[in-house]
Amino acid sequence: MQNKIVYGVALGPGDPELITLKALNTLKSVDKIYAPGSVMKNGEVKSHALGIIEPLGIDVSKVRVFHISMRFDRTETEKLYQSIYEEILEDLKNDLNVAFVSEGDISFYSTFGYMIPRLKNDGIIYEMIPGVPAFIQAGSALGIPITFQNRSLKVLAAVKSISEVDDAIDTSGTVVIMKLSTIKDQLLPHLKEKYDSLRYGYVEKLGTDQEFISSDIEEIIARDKTYFSILIIQK
Ligand code: SAH
Repeated sequence: MQNKIVYGVALGPGDPELITLKALNTLKSVDKIYAPGSVMKNGEVKSHALGIIEPLGIDVSKVRVFHISMRFDRTETEKLYQSIYEEILEDLKNDLNVAFVSEGDISFYSTFGYMIPRLKNDGIIYEMIPGVPAFIQAGSALGIPITFQNRSLKVLAAVKSISEVDDAIDTSGTVVIMKLSTIKDQLLPHLKEKYDSLRYGYVEKLGTDQEFISSDIEEIIARDKTYFSILIIQK
């Protein structure tokens, strides 16, 4: 068991061509791939990660999707992560090579982050294979520099209050907001009212057939802002 490595593998945001060669080769070589999915509020089960893996020519029968329910509280989510971790330990005992994937990058708001302390605690060797984070692809999709020269960048996620965004705009040239749903209805009307000269970029489900990209504030206000969306604000 000691000499087995657990791989944390980044899949990129959605376009299967944006996975790295190293990630692809690792996924081809392992015996089992753990991939996160979600149970939506309406009970529908989805895995964006699996959708990225499927077109890559990897044997999908070795993919073990685990679903995180949007209704779960922290305790239930922790229980799920613990049971997944125990499954991984079992695989290692059975001499299997294991990868744990994440859409976007593996070190950036990734579920793999919950595995790392457990792996460290048990002295299990792991290796992380980085990838393109969704907000970086958003810059290319919108045809803009995310940041340049001496301008600073701030990334916010699951923002709890609008004042957090105001503070970030005060101190940064670019503000990226991930996990938008917490403030999806209030934020843009507030920004429109308070600031005259901000520029906006909004992306949804990058790299999928439902991709949506806009720089028009009215168009962005009208969107429902799904979980897989990012707003970029620039001064
Ligand atoms: N590890 C991912 C982030 C996962 S957190 C990364 O490196 O990008 C989930 C958040 O990422 C979502 O709420 C959304 O803000 C963003 N996201 C991930 N994939 C996306 C995609 N394909 N299109 C738009 N946003 C995406």
